Amino acid sequence: MLWSGWGDPAGAVELPEAVRSLLRDLLGVRALSTPAVGLEEVRPPEVVLAPSVLDELRAVVGAGHVRSDDESRIRHTRGKSTPDLIRLRAGDASRAPDAVVLPGSHDEVLRVLRVCSGHRVAVVPFGGGTSVVGGLSADGHGFAGVVALDVGRLDRLVSLDTESMVAELGPGLRGAEAERLLGERGLTLGHFPQSFEYATLGGFAAARSSGQASAGYGGFGDMVVGMTVATPRGTLGLGRAPRSAAGPDLRQVILGSEGAFGVITSLRLRVRRSPAERHYEGWRFASFSEGAAALRRLAQDGPLPTVLRLSDETETMIGLARPEEIGEPVAGAGCLVVAGYEGGPLEVAETRERAAAVLSELGGTCLGTEPGQAWARGRYAAPYLRDALLAEGATVETLETAGFWAVLPRLYEAVRAALTASLGAPLVMCHISHVYATGASLYFTVVTAQEEDPVAQWERAKRVVSEVIVAEGGTISHHHGVGRDHREAYAVEIGELGGEILRGIKERLDPEGVLNPGALIPSF
Ligand SMILES: Cc1cc2nc3c(=O)[nH]c(=O)nc-3n(C[C@H](O)[C@H](O)[C@H](O)COP(=O)(O)OP(=O)(O)OC[C@H]3O[C@@H](n4cnc5c(N)ncnc54)[C@H](O)[C@@H]3O)c2cc1C
Repeated sequence: MLWSGWGDPAGAVELPEAVRSLLRDLLGVRALSTPAVGLEEVRPPEVVLAPSVLDELRAVVGAGHVRSDDESRIRHTRGKSTPDLIRLRAGDASRAPDAVVLPGSHDEVLRVLRVCSGHRVAVVPFGGGTSVVGGLSADGHGFAGVVALDVGRLDRLVSLDTESMVAELGPGLRGAEAERLLGERGLTLGHFPQSFEYATLGGFAAARSSGQASAGYGGFGDMVVGMTVATPRGTLGLGRAPRSAAGPDLRQVILGSEGAFGVITSLRLRVRRSPAERHYEGWRFASFSEGAAALRRLAQDGPLPTVLRLSDETETMIGLARPEEIGEPVAGAGCLVVAGYEGGPLEVAETRERAAAVLSELGGTCLGTEPGQAWARGRYAAPYLRDALLAEGATVETLETAGFWAVLPRLYEAVRAALTASLGAPLVMCHISHVYATGASLYFTVVTAQEEDPVAQWERAKRVVSEVIVAEGGTISHHHGVGRDHREAYAVEIGELGGEILRGIKERLDPEGVLNPGALIPSF
């Protein structure tokens, strides 16, 4: 993974000339005078963690698994939000942990947590490092140091129960590797977020992730039947049956807990048979509201495709849903719907036929398989474009929310208006990609010319938009989580009593408050 950008450096893309002129002419983007610094030029702060504590950690995990060299520390600084990348590109590694610790078992994680609690060392659980909400940048103020607890060595397919269709998997497995291991056995999880190549199973659970095929397979939380969690107070083993009425479901306390309550060391996940067939196609609707009405009907009355997404007029026009053709003008664009069907041939044919009848009845025009295939081919490509846009002097960032169908149109307009008012004349694009009987997500992509301080510029806009989201009845996050960036808005969303409950749980599981301090838990 590129340390200050996205993905395999070999996958870097050049911006097409059409996009360059769009940036110049429409947004007034001017080339940056300072290109990204090299990794060797970055100087992380002095290590403050006492050598004796480092020795204790080495005694637990082995000397080779405690790293305090510059590169390891820099690679565990921050996540992959645009402000994270802008800071890293400028050589700012001020939030680098003192050391990176890589335990090899649940027991070692427990012992690392004990050492860190004993010395009041902050511990940031680290999966793929793809957080976009400031989930990984702990401020060590008030602590004896900060360590990143990287679960990368817990990366095995531990067991497979094909009778119950449950797999036990290590939290350090990246999405793509987990799919490869399951795929060899004719199975799939069905979890395909855009960060799939790099994000880990533990991160998916800890941040309550949702993948692009959530209409068919559900969000990641729906796949978790059980888990093991190491906390400073000991082990939590959760989930022993497909359903239980034995009190509140404590798995829900850990799902979305973002490393603040414990470290997920093992996950038991529902698996399914790999689909024999995948059929993706495109539909055109005249407007976003007509397209949204069609998605709502499918979500409420069925049949529901496996993938269902609707781009608004601007996103369709720019071609963001088909990154290979981005910037190419689209004639009579309207709004693009991508519908994907996965399963056995009969199931795919039957669901497709029934869904097509609904989409046609509600004003859609079928565009055939080409737009659907183009989306499927380019589904992991957009993050690579972000690096090229940043290098060009544009800020590109995403934000997302969800709301009931009844509030969605107002929420959509209010977020667009807030972004436009805060950023001058940005390009604002939106799509719906997760639908429910009662509502849907809204995912915005914003492109704007960078001001002198692009981080401050974005943070200003984000603050305004977060207030608008909460005021208009949306949630501050459908699937990115809370981290540090959404903590204030989350506090408003759950209220004072909600915050007290979270603080109570944290005090019980992590009495010294060493786990990911500053993330998730409202401070009031
Ligand atoms: C380009 C891009 C595209 C993205 N697309 C999507 C998308 O389509 N859908 C989506 O849901 N998200 C998406 N994300 C956000 C991100 O990938 C998810 O939040 C993902 O779940 C994070 O996984 P990770 O392994 O990278 O976790 P990290 O970033 O390493 O950690 C995320 C949080 O979880 C905690 N954590 C990590 N591992 C553990 C563990 N084992 N136990 C306890 N806590 C842990 C961390 O402390 C942190 O608070 C995207 C991000 C990027 C950069």
